[in-house]
Amino acid sequence: MYDIIIIGGGPAGVTAALYSLRANKKILILEKDSFGGQITYSPLVENYPGTLRMSGDEFADRMLDQITALGAEFELETAVSISPEKDIFTVKTEEGCSYSSRCVIIAAGVEHRMLGVPGEYELVGNGLSFCAVCDGTLYKDKTAAVVGGGNSALQEAILLSELCRGVIVVQNLDYFTGEKRLADKLMNKPNVKAVFGTVVKSFLKNGEELSGLRLVNEATGEESEIAVDGLFVAIGLLPKNSCFSNVAELDGAGYFLSGENCRTRTPGIFCAGDCRVKSVRQLTTAVGDGATAALAACDYLDGFGD
Ligand SMILES: Cc1cc2nc3c(=O)[nH]c(=O)nc-3n(C[C@H](O)[C@H](O)[C@H](O)COP(=O)(O)OP(=O)(O)OC[C@H]3O[C@@H](n4cnc5c(N)ncnc54)[C@H](O)[C@@H]3O)c2cc1C
Repeated sequence: MYDIIIIGGGPAGVTAALYSLRANKKILILEKDSFGGQITYSPLVENYPGTLRMSGDEFADRMLDQITALGAEFELETAVSISPEKDIFTVKTEEGCSYSSRCVIIAAGVEHRMLGVPGEYELVGNGLSFCAVCDGTLYKDKTAAVVGGGNSALQEAILLSELCRGVIVVQNLDYFTGEKRLADKLMNKPNVKAVFGTVVKSFLKNGEELSGLRLVNEATGEESEIAVDGLFVAIGLLPKNSCFSNVAELDGAGYFLSGENCRTRTPGIFCAGDCRVKSVRQLTTAVGDGATAALAACDYLDGFGD
């Protein structure tokens, strides 16, 4: 029996583990893929206070070393359900195991919606990114493309237009779906061009690195190539929280509803990081949630919470 089971070994989950271990709680972290979460896809982290420049992999390794030294227990398994019974939660995994605890912190993050173009996973970190705030400076004075036409894509493109020599926005529809004020602001930039009714057909590469895009106009079938140094895919995020909706409420987009205290509607169940409703999804906000959720869980276990 654990005090706390943490679902997800990304920055939020690892920080929750750090705070829980320092409060002498017995914890288990379940991670389905690789410890570190999304940040392992980042070639360079430059916006984490105290960390000047570091690869996402190194950032993840350091986080993991820190909690391993404190005695964290891990399993590389995918949590698929949480069943409450009295004050105990049983977490079942896809691999067929069951673990019990008095609290659960769900820190399952999000996945970025991909284009479905062959070879895109290999390009993540080699020219393909999802976050202009994170990776925009890699393309300073270079040319970047943004795929998407909603608010996120427009915001990414506006930010890139301040850094890049040129920005090309590729949108499958004949119009932007984001707010008009953002679209107007973007299209007033002299270094921005938009290509409508068009999708990415394939990637052009120079060695491992992205060097351009082959585009196809969906109405005419006409193909063209553009040279780009970077591609930002901004076609939405996919939270994978629905299997836990029996214990925590989700909003319409599938994110956990919680207050800033990271509590859910079920006493003993907490959520942290990108998987919950929030306005900024970054390392700093994920680790802040991890700390908040862990301390709230400790209070609950020690009889000071719900
Ligand atoms: C390419 C890229 C570059 C980025 N660069 C930066 C940057 O430079 N600076 C910055 O501040 N932010 C950056 N970000 C954003 C940052 O990585 C995220 O905001 C942060 O990782 C969120 O942390 P998290 O722990 O909430 O979620 P995640 O990092 O998504 O971690 C969640 C973890 O949970 C695991 N998981 C999910 N479901 C289950 C389950 N059912 N069972 C077990 N495990 C599960 C996942 O495998 C994952 O490891 C970047 C993101 C990307 C994609």
